[in-house]
Amino acid sequence: MCLTIPGKIIDIKNGMASIAENQNQIKIDLGFVSGAKVGDWILYATERAVKIIDENEAREIINLLETKYKPVDNQKLPDRLKEMIVDLRANQQGQRGKRKVKRITKPDIEYLLSLENPEELTTLYSEANTLRKSELKDFVCIHGIIEFSNYCKNNCMYCGIQKDNESIKRYRMSADEIIEAAGDAIENEGYKLVVLQSGEDLSYSDDDIIGIISALKNNHKVFIFLSVGERSENFYRKAFAAGAHGSLFRFETSNPKLYAKLHPGHSLEQRLSSLRTQQKIGYYVASGSLVGLPGQTISDIASDILMVKKLGVPMISSGPFIPTGGTPLYKIKSQSANRRTKVKTVELFLKYIAVSRLLMPEIKIPVTTALETLDPENGRHRGLLAGANALMFNLTPKKYCKNYKIYDNKYVEREKVWQKYGLFKGEESYEMLEKRLRF
Ligand code: SAH
Repeated sequence: MCLTIPGKIIDIKNGMASIAENQNQIKIDLGFVSGAKVGDWILYATERAVKIIDENEAREIINLLETKYKPVDNQKLPDRLKEMIVDLRANQQGQRGKRKVKRITKPDIEYLLSLENPEELTTLYSEANTLRKSELKDFVCIHGIIEFSNYCKNNCMYCGIQKDNESIKRYRMSADEIIEAAGDAIENEGYKLVVLQSGEDLSYSDDDIIGIISALKNNHKVFIFLSVGERSENFYRKAFAAGAHGSLFRFETSNPKLYAKLHPGHSLEQRLSSLRTQQKIGYYVASGSLVGLPGQTISDIASDILMVKKLGVPMISSGPFIPTGGTPLYKIKSQSANRRTKVKTVELFLKYIAVSRLLMPEIKIPVTTALETLDPENGRHRGLLAGANALMFNLTPKKYCKNYKIYDNKYVEREKVWQKYGLFKGEESYEMLEKRLRF
């Protein structure tokens, strides 16, 4: 799988390496990694070694996910938060039944989303991070996204590529360009999860998209996520048969009134119906909402998290709302007001990640580009340390990328160190990925 962590070999017997992990020793199949000896550092996935790496590289990777939280003095925490943590821990340790353990309720979620005191926030994030570590270890999954067209027939009020925004330059990538960009990322950089995203652009017929999926699946080992909006059941069936097994499809907000306001001519019901159809077909669906929309309340956001849980999706796709030029929701603010809003939105979104992790211990949570856009220095790191476990890198060719302006100043940097961490070539890793995603 594309998820690896470094470990130091302390013993080798019959092709199995012993690695020290936390307090325990675990055994890893050395498989095709030849020449490994005791004392070497290796990158390994759940069950197999992937490659030998040097110690500096290993330490660089370990540092990325090192917990940076200072311990909080329990006495200073409000009783409600302390009790919730005790209950959550008991829940995770399967102690339900042995004593009465309270489930997290909607008012609890609202309470957690409203925390502001730095020590309380630290407690929330570090609980979520500990849970991520115990459920998913430090395996970080890396997705690549190709934004192949910024034409859209819809007018979502928040979205920079909405039909009526005349301030952006529109583009469409040809099938060959899409296939080349994805092929290059897969073969030369080691990507195994590729998202094909666009506005709702019907100038690509069902067959055009299916042709692209087939070409990619015939030539590469890749897991394809579609993110093309509402299309017919027939389309989603054919695309699945052609080999696209994932779908990134947000419900955007679980509040039907707010949904209708933000999506002229569309309804939440219609969006959810398409989502359920995709689940029925068998797609690995990533879904979620926008956080911090104008008119959205803390109660709405709590409902969004509960909706993710109710839908039972294996992966969350959510992000902070970023006001975007050329859209009805864009308001020009002073620079300092803007900075304050940014800080608030980042914090709210980190709380959303942490609460989601606490409620759904095994769910995959990518740090989306919007968080990195609001906090380019630390967004990625802070997201992971609040309980997220996956990253999304932009693979759209440079000449188009700047015009895919869903929101302003989109973050597109790809840091080498993360790529080292989560990307490696080799079929074996892909097979582990498919197995893990159950296809
Ligand atoms: N057409 C596809 C893909 C939409 S764009 C679909 O309908 O699913 C991908 C995502 O970008 C959207 O789901 C939305 O949640 C997000 N997005 C759009 N505008 C945004 C903004 N201003 N700030 C943050 N995220 C935004």
